[in-house]
Amino acid sequence: TLKFEDVKHLMVERIPSRILNLLRLIGSYGEDKKMPVYVVGGFVRDLLLGLENYDIDIVVEGNGLEFAKYASKQLGAKMVEHEKFLTASLFFKDGFRIDIATARTEYYEKPADLPQVDISTIKKDLYRRDFTINAMAIKLNTKEFGLLYDFFDSRKDLKEGLIRVLHKLSFVEDPTRIIRAVRFEQRFGFKIEEETLRILNETLNGGFLEKVSGQRIRQELEKILEEREPLNAIKRLAQLKILKHIFPKTYFTSVMEKKLENLFNNLRIIKELYKKINVFYSLLRILLEYYDIDTLKKVIKKYGIPKKFIDEIKATETRLPPLLNMIKYKIRFSDIYKVIGKPSAETTAHIMSYIDDEDSKEYFVEYLKRVFSTKLSISGNYLKEKMNVKNSVEIGKVMNELYCRKLDNPSINEEEELKKILEDET
Ligand code: ATP
Repeated sequence: TLKFEDVKHLMVERIPSRILNLLRLIGSYGEDKKMPVYVVGGFVRDLLLGLENYDIDIVVEGNGLEFAKYASKQLGAKMVEHEKFLTASLFFKDGFRIDIATARTEYYEKPADLPQVDISTIKKDLYRRDFTINAMAIKLNTKEFGLLYDFFDSRKDLKEGLIRVLHKLSFVEDPTRIIRAVRFEQRFGFKIEEETLRILNETLNGGFLEKVSGQRIRQELEKILEEREPLNAIKRLAQLKILKHIFPKTYFTSVMEKKLENLFNNLRIIKELYKKINVFYSLLRILLEYYDIDTLKKVIKKYGIPKKFIDEIKATETRLPPLLNMIKYKIRFSDIYKVIGKPSAETTAHIMSYIDDEDSKEYFVEYLKRVFSTKLSISGNYLKEKMNVKNSVEIGKVMNELYCRKLDNPSINEEEELKKILEDET
């Protein structure tokens, strides 16, 4: 197939005019600086797929930092340089951002070969990328504006729905691509190409994923959690035994799958209740259930998870069986409170992942809403001064009892209820 194709008409048709104008301007700065400039990667892929994507990655053949400086001045955008990587980001007043990089040059046909020097720099840059579908560029310089550079038959793979690496050592070079392959495959409903799958398995069996830092694995898993259907990718990771190489003691069963399904279905409502939830921790609460303490310690260290994670997971494990029964039989809120109190967002996600019937789910959400809305207007000081209770342990107990009664019955009169509690105690 043709390596170059004019896709200007697609750009005009599909890209919002504001972004199209920006790309034209960047192309004109390429002319000014006599540097070839391209938009590359996901933006090009999604343009051809007809999907919205406004993550603009620019690659410059030449000094990318010098180009970025020039462009930021012309455009009145703020520039942040990452000198070590020869990249820069431009930030516009409305928060819009574009990334500018210098085309990378190292490239070896086979590990022992001399670097190939006879091909253009943009080709080398694209060759270093993860998959063919992410390895296209569109030229922006005014004269060639809209010319698609497709060296690796990427368009064919896009049409056929294939995730294909650019060379045999791709997964060894960067084993996180194993996880990325699954993410893109599931996002687009594609298939990992046969030979790529073979190399993926070889790399997996070679133990290369185990050599990657927890931080990088975590980043890729978090990207999966940002996908529209994270469960599909997680199921595929399990099916391809990739999950075993990440969490060796996790057994992915249909029960676990159901819990994960509940987790993702419940996220919206939990976010409404808590504003914030760490979805990665919530995922691990399910994947790492029933791990022994020593293994848990190793895992949380590797992935940079706070120590209290272990206490929370263990506490929830022991409380879950009674708690689920209490919810099922709609035991009063004060009794549930005595078991679980006001749970963190992640603990709530964990508990709710076990709840399969709508009725129980509703009751538990009602409980949470009640806990969030119940506040005492009387304080411990009131007890001390007006009721002459001096012992602080005693005060704590009485206040807790008062709170529990209000949980069950929000309309109580706190002062009268206090008197009753004190009478009951004597
Ligand atoms: P999308 O933006 O579509 O979700 P993404 O989040 O993976 O994709 P980035 O991670 O920002 O996008 O990557 C941008 C481009 O950089 C990708 O299209 C890919 O070509 C390249 N890239 C990113 N990570 C890797 C990697 N580990 N190995 C090789 N190339 C990579």
